[in-house]
Amino acid sequence: MNGKVTTARTRLERGRSALGPALELVHTGRAPTRAVLTAELGVTRATAGAVAAELEALGLIRVDSRPGAAAGSQGRPSHRLSVDANGPVVLAAQVHSDGFRAALVGLGGRIVATSPGAVTVSADPAQVLGEVVDAGAALLAETGLRCVGAGLAVPSAVAEPEGTALNPLHLAWPAGAPVRDVFAERVRGAGIAGPAFTGNDVNLAALAEHRHGAGRGAAHLLCVATGHRGVGGALVLDGRLHTGSSGLALEVGHLTVNPEGRPCYCGSRGCLDVETDPLAFLTAAGRTPGPEGSLLQQARDLLRNEYTDTVVRSAAEEIVDRLGLGLAGLVNILNPDRIILGGLHRELLDADPERLRAVVTDRSLWGRSGGVPILPCTLDHNSLVGAAELAWQPVLDDPLAALAQA
Ligand SMILES: [Zn+2]
Repeated sequence: MNGKVTTARTRLERGRSALGPALELVHTGRAPTRAVLTAELGVTRATAGAVAAELEALGLIRVDSRPGAAAGSQGRPSHRLSVDANGPVVLAAQVHSDGFRAALVGLGGRIVATSPGAVTVSADPAQVLGEVVDAGAALLAETGLRCVGAGLAVPSAVAEPEGTALNPLHLAWPAGAPVRDVFAERVRGAGIAGPAFTGNDVNLAALAEHRHGAGRGAAHLLCVATGHRGVGGALVLDGRLHTGSSGLALEVGHLTVNPEGRPCYCGSRGCLDVETDPLAFLTAAGRTPGPEGSLLQQARDLLRNEYTDTVVRSAAEEIVDRLGLGLAGLVNILNPDRIILGGLHRELLDADPERLRAVVTDRSLWGRSGGVPILPCTLDHNSLVGAAELAWQPVLDDPLAALAQA
């Protein structure tokens, strides 16, 4: 082998190892131009150009050479980079206590198509997962898009390495249901290409918000959210989900925030899960949930439309105070640099941001010393987008290998 060939191969391999990081930078919006990509990757302009061209040839990104820099800016305008709107997609699925939904999600966290949300969930996980995968397969058939993988979000901790739903407290599913294997089997059975993954819905929401939403740039991101029932938490450390030794970290729903409170499904009492979820708010406001709309939607409507009613307002304040107590405990333990709130918690923050921040500050050691920013989640369907992130991960890790397999 002569030196010239070795050099060319080395350059090729270096370029290949930069494909994944380059794709992740474009996917998360952190490299809007080739100049930024060059700087972020720490490579030469020629290498960055070759990497961008390769990703474009793979149908993953677009390189736009039309001048994009504003008049008067220094230097030559740089090529603009964006995800390819006609590129491949992944199938994302979400099951929650009030139904399920399938979607096709492109790079950049862009929802390309969704099925209408179903409103009943069978007690048999295989039945539900079969239905949601069929809904996704129908979307793929309608759109004709190439699918490179699938991800599922469930309202339960998912034990690793088994891939079992350990505590689907708000579904009638048996504890320990092998959801990851069942989902993967259904995906294969529907003829959908690529690997299949499963994760907890709030973990996945946090991952999506970190990459595309309110969590961008945070190094120690804490996410707390109500699903349709119950409360979950997640921590994204340096861009990766912290899931603990067996996938069960951040089960924040079972922090006690009211020792005399309501009995919880976990066997304890006064947990964040039952003291700050949509049902808790409706009950505190003296409302009986109606048959129309999910509990989350009914709680949202009450908060948005009747906040001036003193009973509704004091119910909201009670929930905010309990949520604040829970967040303060988490701030003391985890010392996050940002907290983001989803589901009903996001709406409660919007309704009275000062009250929640004041409770967290008063009740936490680190809150007092500086103040942790508390922000609302910004993505619609962030658990679905997060499920898609799981499916995109192999492509982000090694685009050539992943696309060759899918
Ligand atoms: Zn509990």
